[in-house]
Amino acid sequence: MSDQKTILDQMRNAQIQDTYIHPDDLAWVPFPGAPGIDMKVLRVSSESGTWTVLFQCTAGSGFPRHLHLGAGEYLMISGEMEVRGGAKAGGITAVAGDYGYEPTGMIHDWTNFVSDSVFFFTNHGPIQFMDDDDNIVGVLDWQGILAIDASAPAPV
Ligand code: ZN
Repeated sequence: MSDQKTILDQMRNAQIQDTYIHPDDLAWVPFPGAPGIDMKVLRVSSESGTWTVLFQCTAGSGFPRHLHLGAGEYLMISGEMEVRGGAKAGGITAVAGDYGYEPTGMIHDWTNFVSDSVFFFTNHGPIQFMDDDDNIVGVLDWQGILAIDASAPAPV
């Protein structure tokens, strides 16, 4: 490639910012309302409301009942996650290497972790947490993710 082409590519790319994260440099931050679950915030978009995190979940932990106000996507890196009771109850059991897509409007009663698990997760909008009577107990959006992340201890 010519030097001129390289310079033109660099000028074009300078107008578009890419993102590179080395998660080992980030501290795990406790995820509120879900004891045993921590996250590392990889990216948050104020433009689209999308947020991307790495979740680390201890065996027996889980996310409380929630409604996806934006679609979610995950890739299991390790462990085992049961969605809607897992495969034995007609839901999904996801293990390392599995990908899942959760459309907007999806309700997850209790998502639990059978063993220590790590998974990559992107949500394209907020998540609304509810009690068993569907009373809203909280809404987590990209700004909430940033606020949680701001509570993280400084990396060492
Ligand atoms: Zn969910």
